[in-house]
Amino acid sequence: MRNKANQQPTGARRNNCKGYVEVKTEYGWVFEHRLVYEKASGRKLLPTEIIHHLNGDITDNRIENLAVMLAGAHTQHHKRGTILKAETKAKLSAAKIGKPSPKKLTAEQVLAIRDAYTKGKGGRSAIADAYGITPSMVSHITTRRAWRNV
Ligand SMILES: [Zn+2]
Repeated sequence: MRNKANQQPTGARRNNCKGYVEVKTEYGWVFEHRLVYEKASGRKLLPTEIIHHLNGDITDNRIENLAVMLAGAHTQHHKRGTILKAETKAKLSAAKIGKPSPKKLTAEQVLAIRDAYTKGKGGRSAIADAYGITPSMVSHITTRRAWRNV
């Protein structure tokens, strides 16, 4: 006999043991935050890309609460975010994931960065952290010295 839990219809939602929301798709249960991001951005997330909940509420899967981070930067953000200074964090993540370049960002991310900054959803270093770029790059983006065409 199959377990009833496995017979949920496509589109069903559940909370997993860590509190994340999962959605049943034709391929099985997937994290709702990844689905939401993939739908909004129109691209598939890489396994190395982690979705971070900006306001810390892991059940809040509104697109404006989601940011893509590389796995390494994300772990560091949570482990050391409150201990290390922004400068040190930038150095650490630059060393770990390689020098960030503005070309690695997508136009959607650039818009999201400007949006988050103008709405005051985080300082430059928090935003930089969320996108795996340096705070000075965030400053270039918000002042349009970088990505002027977006
Ligand atoms: Zn996170």
